[in-house]
Amino acid sequence: MIADRVRDAALSLPEAPAYLYDLPALDEHAASVRRALPGIELYYAVKANPDAELLRVLAGHVDGFEVSSGGEHAHVTSLFPGGRVALGGPGKTDAELRLPHHRIHVESPNELRRLLDTGLEADVLLRLNPDLPVEGAALTMSGPFGMDEQGVAECLPLFTDRVRLRGLHTHLASGLDAAQLLTLAGSLLDNGYDEVNLGGGMAVSYAAPGSRFDWAGYGRGLAALGRGRTLRIEPGRALTAYCGYYVTRVVDVKRVRGEAYAVLLGGTHHLRTPATKGHDQPFTILPTGKGQGVADEPITFVGQLCTPKDVFSRKIVSSAYIGDTVVFEMAGAYAWNISHHDFLMHPKPAFRYLGA
Ligand SMILES: *Cc1c(COP(=O)(O)O)cnc(C)c1O
Repeated sequence: MIADRVRDAALSLPEAPAYLYDLPALDEHAASVRRALPGIELYYAVKANPDAELLRVLAGHVDGFEVSSGGEHAHVTSLFPGGRVALGGPGKTDAELRLPHHRIHVESPNELRRLLDTGLEADVLLRLNPDLPVEGAALTMSGPFGMDEQGVAECLPLFTDRVRLRGLHTHLASGLDAAQLLTLAGSLLDNGYDEVNLGGGMAVSYAAPGSRFDWAGYGRGLAALGRGRTLRIEPGRALTAYCGYYVTRVVDVKRVRGEAYAVLLGGTHHLRTPATKGHDQPFTILPTGKGQGVADEPITFVGQLCTPKDVFSRKIVSSAYIGDTVVFEMAGAYAWNISHHDFLMHPKPAFRYLGA
């Protein structure tokens, strides 16, 4: 269910499709996350959504931003000159290794050697890819990310007065609940580093839009584990997913071999999240249509792309009439910025901000 102010704004949008961001809701959510984590440093992983309006709201609550490319670095440092930046990402170029940072997350022994070759000062967290079981994760960050214990051991003798080892960085998996993240944090903190960045990956449930990650429980658990150490986390999705909406309109309703379809303006080239994650994107229908349609039956909602993958949600019992307004929820993270905008050359959505 969407808030009244979101519904009113969706109904008064001059154009569709459009992204609508609820900035006061983001402000409130970020403040509550911040309150739940006393003594823990909170960074935002910019790759979840780099929209400048969202970053400006978040800047009032976070201690810094985690960037994963030279592009994100330029974007964030131009918005917040002098702000704290943690620079991560696999495959950093020589130019990226030279960028100013508060921390740089080194992904391999050879990357550390190339960092030393720059001749610049650096404050390093080694990205460890630990051999820990992560059950129930949506996406496990194993494989090429970071290094194993052997890689870390190879790095340790390379540090100098100029290129300083500050601690460890990990980002284990995406879609974990607080108890799972605390278990993983417990095993990592056993290794005696004074500073540990525990990454992001806090669970977001698209099947239960009203549920939230247990920030308070996570904060209490981290406080118990921290004990004088610097602990930092860098969530992305769990901060911004909830404040974004993709608002569009029903352009056709039809039945093909018995199955009902609603065809919407736009598509997964604007909101790729359901296609990449393979889920049904939650939505609310506002009955603005006066045309033909179907009522109270399973409807598959698709977009305007000429591909069977252009599906927002499958066989959800609902009603849809031509001209109805469809508000997709939870479209504030890994949505517009991961989408293949130019496929089929349809117009881009508008961007509107509540409370700006
Ligand atoms: C993607 C990423 C994050 C954020 O992950 P979420 O699942 O969006 O919280 C944090 N740290 C690193 C290193 C990442 O790659």
